[in-house]
Amino acid sequence: MTREEKDLLQEKIKQELTSLEREIASLKEMTKPEPQGNEVGRVSKMDAINNKSVMQSSLATKEKRQKSLAMKLERIEDENFGNCANCNNPINIKRLLYRPESALCIRCAR
Ligand SMILES: [Zn+2]
Repeated sequence: MTREEKDLLQEKIKQELTSLEREIASLKEMTKPEPQGNEVGRVSKMDAINNKSVMQSSLATKEKRQKSLAMKLERIEDENFGNCANCNNPINIKRLLYRPESALCIRCAR
């Protein structure tokens, strides 16, 4: 991977992390426990619970992604950074820019 590609990817990962951080903060806000006495009708309460579990699983996914992107960012200066975890060939830069958390090249990911 060239210096330019690394810089580009680093920029991309930082952008993704910033927007993830924002999304995680607002999901946390939405999934925090309701204050007492804020009871709504039974049906809408069920809806609220369903929505909450959807948001919680989305929150978990985003937090996992945030962790793996942060790890990528830390290792960006490693010699074999951007190589496939399976075949050790360089992963296509376009693939990495599209999905920076990719650990496998296109061939191995199939
Ligand atoms: Zn591979």
